[in-house]
Amino acid sequence: MLTSLSTDVLIVGGGIAGLWLNARLRRDGYSTLLVENAALGGGQSLKSQGIIHGGTKYALQGVLTGSSEAIAEMPRRWRDAHAGYGDLDLSGVRLLSEAHYLWSPGTLAGNLTSFFASKAMRGRVDPVKGAELPPALQDPRFKGKVYRLAELVFDVPSLIARLADLAGDSLLAARRIEPLRDGDELVGLRVDERDIRAQRIVLSAGAGNAALLAALGVERPAQQLRPLHMVLAKGPALKPLYAHCMGAGPKPRITVTSHPAADGEWVWYLGGDLAEAEGVARDEAAQIDAARREVGELMPWIDQSRTRWATLRVDRAEPLQSGLVRPDNAFLAEQDRLLVGWPTKLALAPDFADRVLAALRRDAIRPSAPPPPAGLPRPALARPIWEEWLA
Ligand SMILES: Cc1cc2nc3c(=O)[nH]c(=O)nc-3n(C[C@H](O)[C@H](O)[C@H](O)COP(=O)(O)OP(=O)(O)OC[C@H]3O[C@@H](n4cnc5c(N)ncnc54)[C@H](O)[C@@H]3O)c2cc1C
Repeated sequence: MLTSLSTDVLIVGGGIAGLWLNARLRRDGYSTLLVENAALGGGQSLKSQGIIHGGTKYALQGVLTGSSEAIAEMPRRWRDAHAGYGDLDLSGVRLLSEAHYLWSPGTLAGNLTSFFASKAMRGRVDPVKGAELPPALQDPRFKGKVYRLAELVFDVPSLIARLADLAGDSLLAARRIEPLRDGDELVGLRVDERDIRAQRIVLSAGAGNAALLAALGVERPAQQLRPLHMVLAKGPALKPLYAHCMGAGPKPRITVTSHPAADGEWVWYLGGDLAEAEGVARDEAAQIDAARREVGELMPWIDQSRTRWATLRVDRAEPLQSGLVRPDNAFLAEQDRLLVGWPTKLALAPDFADRVLAALRRDAIRPSAPPPPAGLPRPALARPIWEEWLA
């Protein structure tokens, strides 16, 4: 039997973008419903490396145009949230590392040194040595330079769980989503047996946005998918490391984050150039070989004999790149009641929410709908990818 609900903002997609936005709107007194058709965080968010970039990596690539980029603000905003006095109260969320590191293996150190001494970078990076080095690099054979970036690394499963708590009764598990119209006007969505009317509908469904837009008969904005072939490694010789290793080009050769497994060992999650174009073209065995070679070359003191390996393919979902898209800001497009976007980075979830809130304020959309009823079917939390792998 069909039932009717109304809400101020109906959000589709429970990754970081939808969940952060939902919590922000609720904090400001809006009534919200967030519908998720799989598991919370199970799209890109739980497959991300959890690094709260502040733009240093992009400054290195020469693409950051200045302090107007939202990304530069993100480490401070997340730090405040984690301390309990920011946009949201994320105190209690597990932080994997207080800092991310940039590491240059030997020969390139000269270039990096002059780059980091440059005016653009002053105050954002500090060189580290000896006992301050990340544990995985503390070996007498380590040559090269390491810089500490003021960028946090979050345990994303714990972050998603906290945002799901902040969602209260507003989460709804969905199987089928269809447009709900009054004449030609989109006024909400039919979610299974519920007609949900809303003042605004936000699509934050990651790679799912394209199909949702098609179902609504909306052509723009177009979406692009960027495939990645990530690598997972686990073994007794792996110690914590959160770092971009710089190669000859502007992109990190590898980016490593580390995640504690239940048995006390560490799982390394490897991305960067390794996971991009050539990595995508390799099959699993060849990608594992390439990763072993990189780790062997860069950290020859690591005994790999008891390391287990696996790979994971995932697409990054973004707006189709054009001259209009700023690389280091969240993207949001609007059409009447419908808003659709991609944060483009986990770190930019606060910027995504800012953009939605700015659109609501501009249109004088004020909280008016009743809170969601208790007892709606709730979507599950997705499992961490290393738990999935090791199960
Ligand atoms: C390998 C990798 C590493 C990354 N590392 C970093 C990093 O270190 N730092 C950083 O800032 N960013 C990183 N990113 C980018 C970051 O993960 C993404 O930008 C961010 O997670 C996107 O969040 P989202 O909420 O838009 O999408 P998603 O996390 O993909 O969530 C979308 C949600 O919508 C749901 N959904 C889809 N279709 C529907 C539908 N029809 N109805 C209802 N629900 C639907 C999905 O099930 C999913 O739960 C990384 C990305 C990848 C792939």
